[in-house]
Amino acid sequence: MRKKQFKAESKKLLDMMINSIYTHKEIFLRELISNASDAIDKLYFKSLTDNAVKLSRNDFKIQIDLDKENRTLIITDNGIGMTAEELEKNLGTIAKSGSFNFKKENADDENTKDISVIGQFGVGFYSSFMVSDKVEVVSKAFGDEIAHKWISQGADGYTIEECEKADAGTVITLHIKEDNDNEDYSQYLEQYKIDELVKKYSDYIRYPIMMEMSHQVPDPEKEGEYITEINLETLNSMVPIWRKAKSEIKAEDYNEFYKSKFMDYTDPISVIHSKTEGQATFDALMFIPENPPYDFYSKEYEKGLQLYSNGVLIMDKCSDLLPDYFSFVKGLVDSADLSLNISREMLQHDHQLKIIAKAIDKKLKNELTKMLKNDREKYEKFFKTFGLQLKYGVYANYGMEKDGLKDLLLFESSNNEGYVTLKEYVGRMADSQDKIYYACGESAEKIALLPQIDAVKEKGYEVLYFTDEVDEFAIQMLMEYDAKHFANICKDDLDLSTEAEKEAINKKNEDAKDLLEKMKDALDGQVTAVKLSDKLGSHPVSLTAEGYVSLEMEKVLNAMPGANQGVKAQLVLEINSKHPVAEKLAKADEETLKKYTKLLYSSARLIAGLDLANPTEFSDTIADLM
Ligand code: ADP
Repeated sequence: MRKKQFKAESKKLLDMMINSIYTHKEIFLRELISNASDAIDKLYFKSLTDNAVKLSRNDFKIQIDLDKENRTLIITDNGIGMTAEELEKNLGTIAKSGSFNFKKENADDENTKDISVIGQFGVGFYSSFMVSDKVEVVSKAFGDEIAHKWISQGADGYTIEECEKADAGTVITLHIKEDNDNEDYSQYLEQYKIDELVKKYSDYIRYPIMMEMSHQVPDPEKEGEYITEINLETLNSMVPIWRKAKSEIKAEDYNEFYKSKFMDYTDPISVIHSKTEGQATFDALMFIPENPPYDFYSKEYEKGLQLYSNGVLIMDKCSDLLPDYFSFVKGLVDSADLSLNISREMLQHDHQLKIIAKAIDKKLKNELTKMLKNDREKYEKFFKTFGLQLKYGVYANYGMEKDGLKDLLLFESSNNEGYVTLKEYVGRMADSQDKIYYACGESAEKIALLPQIDAVKEKGYEVLYFTDEVDEFAIQMLMEYDAKHFANICKDDLDLSTEAEKEAINKKNEDAKDLLEKMKDALDGQVTAVKLSDKLGSHPVSLTAEGYVSLEMEKVLNAMPGANQGVKAQLVLEINSKHPVAEKLAKADEETLKKYTKLLYSSARLIAGLDLANPTEFSDTIADLM
């Protein structure tokens, strides 16, 4: 019999499959089962209108047979089958595959990129060559008299010949490769492995996937002994939980499903199950975990939702479905609008997928908004665990997402009543207040001790406590909330005084001009100014920043890997004009004034949480003055 050659492109792809070093070769089973399921679908739909189809819904099935001795794995379906022409056309060509187009574009990078493409999407039938050195397909098309056998040992071509087969359908026999140093192919001849793979990838195929399973059971004849019992069993559960009516599903069902599917020991704090119809039709089942996933903070962590096309898993972590700020969300999306063999590249440009992603984002935001409103305790717990993600979300991409996230933020504040939202803050602002005040620091306790706090609190204004590094950056991105600007109380331009107060302090500064100039000189360029202030309550000194960069931002920016230490806040040393220390300064001789100034500057730095350039000098000066 004459051997036929594969079409050139198919041959290339086939070569790639045969020599694949791809680690998830197991997806071949999913591909073959999906094909079988599609073939059954076709005959099933035909049966609805065509009396010639003698099968009814419950007769359809997919069977898997393992033969360790002969190293064969056989997949049988009673679907629509293929004619000789179809065998030729379908199994001899693959030019239309999206994955394959991707391969052509990256032709010079043969082994790396291509293989990840195989893994993400499979390339259907051809993936069987990843695990087999010979594949036989016996098929009889519905309505055809003759059956055909297609045989190929890989890239050198294939043969088609007539053969015997009673009923319509397809039998695919994989001759599993011998094991080698790197690969354990024999696992695909083990019942437990096949059972596991079916449950992993094809659990929700609508037709039963059956296989003979052997079990050890007690021998009824002989006490204490066991015999092997062999049963034909259905491996897949067939109905996915997300396709069931919500009323049929109990909370435990969701929790169990979550824990087994996403490997967590703790129930999720939120379950979002939705069926959407409209621009895109899809089912979504999502979970907000109570704790961060175990590898959440590692580089290996990949965000994403599982993506199903009509119950068949096509991608384990579809990252395009989740924005970064929801990277902790687990779950899946099932849509009939997506094709099974869609490639990563196509997926990125897929219009349907974009619509779905947008809808998912909205659903998650709604869920959190609801939680914040109805179960404050739960939301605060959530926020303590994942709030940082939301803050980064406000800051990321030049604040593109800030409007959708700003009302989900929580901050501690000088009210000491736990967390406050921006909306609540603005809602309880004093009549005379027109800014949202905040202060930065390591912890709420430390911020509460800042010298600047008192003056703001005296006015009856609440101060938000920013304890995460990203806080101030996120707020800079927001710029304002409800038309109220944000103001750092440790910045120089804090405008809290009445006109009369301003006049008084300006005059004091004017009168002390020479003194303040001398003090500035004593600090040798470390501050841009020394000023008298009337806002420091009982504290003698404080350090504030002028301009855009606050003290906290300086710290964060300079701590970033690869930062050049160039970012500097412009510092202003403020002296409390009402404090006895101000008088003392005025009376000091030149040498003592220098020492006092250095001392005050150093202590102001310590209060602000900044390092001292020369701690020894600081200590010496104290001792000296004592
Ligand atoms: P895809 O399934 O993406 O089209 P495949 O390479 O897996 O790509 O299959 C090519 C074609 O071969 C299918 O579209 C289908 O028409 C046919 N085919 C594959 N397996 C079967 C089967 N078990 N029964 C009937 N037709 C099949």
